Amino acid sequence: MKYRSTRSNETVSAEEALVKGLADDGGLYVPDFLPEPFLDAQALLNLSYEELAAFVLSHFLTDIPDGEIRKLTHNAYTGTFETSEIVPVKTLSESFSMAEMFHGRTCAFKDLALSLFPYLLVYAKKQEKDDREILILTATSGDTGKAALEGFRDVPGVHIMVFYPSHGVSPLQKDQMQKQLGNNVKVVGIEGNFDDAQGTLKQVFNSSLRKEEAEKGVLFSSANSINIGRLLPQVVYYVWIWLKLLKSGSIGPREEFNVVVPTGNFGNILAAWIARKIGTPIGQLVCASNENKVLSDFFETGTYDVNREFYMTEAPSMDILVSSNFERFLYFLTDSTDEVKADMEALRNTGKYEVSREALKKADLEMMGGWASPEAMRKAMTDVYEKYDYLMDPHTAVAYAVYDKLRRTGKITRHTHTVIISTAHPYKFPGVVAKALGLDEKESPYDTLREIEKATGIAIPQQLGELEQKEKRFTDTVERKDMAETIRAYADTIIK
Ligand SMILES: *Cc1c(COP(=O)(O)O)cnc(C)c1O
Repeated sequence: MKYRSTRSNETVSAEEALVKGLADDGGLYVPDFLPEPFLDAQALLNLSYEELAAFVLSHFLTDIPDGEIRKLTHNAYTGTFETSEIVPVKTLSESFSMAEMFHGRTCAFKDLALSLFPYLLVYAKKQEKDDREILILTATSGDTGKAALEGFRDVPGVHIMVFYPSHGVSPLQKDQMQKQLGNNVKVVGIEGNFDDAQGTLKQVFNSSLRKEEAEKGVLFSSANSINIGRLLPQVVYYVWIWLKLLKSGSIGPREEFNVVVPTGNFGNILAAWIARKIGTPIGQLVCASNENKVLSDFFETGTYDVNREFYMTEAPSMDILVSSNFERFLYFLTDSTDEVKADMEALRNTGKYEVSREALKKADLEMMGGWASPEAMRKAMTDVYEKYDYLMDPHTAVAYAVYDKLRRTGKITRHTHTVIISTAHPYKFPGVVAKALGLDEKESPYDTLREIEKATGIAIPQQLGELEQKEKRFTDTVERKDMAETIRAYADTIIK
């Protein structure tokens, strides 16, 4: 299988797409075709997570021998999650389950892809016979940064630099990044939001700086979900969730299930959509947004419009207006690189674009949008804890609140089991969780966590608890306009 750009006919191998991240024309790489459905539940039912991952990925990474893929997924998913189930699925009622994606090294769903991506990248680089150093440039809204730092820490030949919005992440998320260990890592706060960070990095990828550094021996790549190495591993867990539901009897052999995804950059839900294309029986697929509801509005109107206020919410990983991966969905909707290119240009110049009536109709057949206010999010946290004794993080709560609204209004089929994608451990967000439980927020987030632990009996994950005693290593913040120079300065230090 080859990978092609969403904006032109540029086509490359999987290895090249992994190493480059973004296409030369600024577009995103997508599989040049989507495989016909190939999933046979009976044959897959007893595979381990790493075996299933190897099986699914072998259909997308056809140039990599199966034995190699198995080695890569084995390394990625051995000893990196606190449960061998990797993604446990908790059925809370006949109507719905929670797919818990927060049992990895950094307590967020990003760990699922970022445990594997470094292995894919190192393999691809070897195949490309390129012995230059790689510098991974990453923009984060809070969780990608830490998961990428852990994934790439001390990987030979690779360096990583992370930019996070210095006022837009939770104190725990900030500590996770500022206290990161490793000799090949650099973390920088920016005065701006995620869109600023991601937008500037995309410019850097298309700038002369990238060429200059490549000549000096440093290749820029990306660990954001614009890289296919992030997207493909995410397809796996939707197949896994299906098999788990079958095994637990939450759904029958020929039954579908609905999926609700708390969405930011549109990577996770795009993976769900691909999983459905290859044969996972996903019924309704719901794209849940918080107050930054560009996507929810798109599904209603067919216009993608970022000319609006940006809200900093308590579900910060969803505080995004320009959802990069939506470009891939747009490509599949319109089946036209010219149109995607024109729309992306319009987005850059005017902050909006509109798709045709047919494209919108197609979009509505594939997915459904919805959004939840901060009040609805908090109420969902409280209600679900009281009713099901289950504590959700704010992002998961947004998804639940959207699900609840759709169910009440009859927009989601009641007789179909629904899976809420639970994207982060609630303890990454102590302040809002304490409020939802009616507890006082303490000055130190770790004191707050101990209060929550006392009240709920849910133990503090070691990865979060141990942060309290660690030293801050990275406290720099820069202006958006200085990001490129900051990158140049760091890149120059790693030239061999
Ligand atoms: C990244 C993230 C999201 C958004 O996922 P996308 O793939 O960017 O849409 C939602 N919740 C949490 C906790 C996240 O870290």
